[in-house]
Amino acid sequence: MKYCSQCGGLIGLQWIAEEGRARFVCANCGVRHYLNPTVIVCCMVHCGEEILMCRRAHDPGRGQWLTPCGYLESGETLEQGAARETFEETGVMIDPDALDLCSVVNMTEIQQVGIVFRVELATKPALRPGPECLEARFVGAGGIPEEQIAWRPSLGDGLPRFFEELRSRAFTIQLATLGRANGSGFRSRGYRITGASERPRSRRRTRNP
Ligand SMILES: [Zn+2]
Repeated sequence: MKYCSQCGGLIGLQWIAEEGRARFVCANCGVRHYLNPTVIVCCMVHCGEEILMCRRAHDPGRGQWLTPCGYLESGETLEQGAARETFEETGVMIDPDALDLCSVVNMTEIQQVGIVFRVELATKPALRPGPECLEARFVGAGGIPEEQIAWRPSLGDGLPRFFEELRSRAFTIQLATLGRANGSGFRSRGYRITGASERPRSRRRTRNP
């Protein structure tokens, strides 16, 4: 951040005593510019014991595989954002109401918060990779070599554990903290799902255009 979005003046770091931290402040108009984490939404679309993954067309991580994910837009619910990203990247239409919470992820190193949903499809839909993807595919455990999965060390045991949950059908909600690039620092804590969903069964549908 270099110029003020209010007046175009130069911005510099300034210690704010009452907040106990440095902030970007405009030298001209004095407006404080806050850098808060952005929200990433992600969708684990599964069919049987396979999940839908995309090969990224752009950096960071060009050529590597990841589940559909992207930035939440203003005005969207988390579920709508996850469904939109899934459609944009793979062509698969998901009803936002059909999504179940899968994990909440601290990504402090990159100033982001991740919200991951999962949704089960009865049959594999036709895939139509969008401009952000080179390829989309349903893959089972071990279906993609570890070194080809984007940010694999930082994801800790997140992906293998999800495949294990697909096998056992004992789904959890995880609160995780992304690890560093060398793989250290990943943490997660599982919350068992004990209550029945309030969602009407008739709304649990997925569509494929
Ligand atoms: Zn200004």
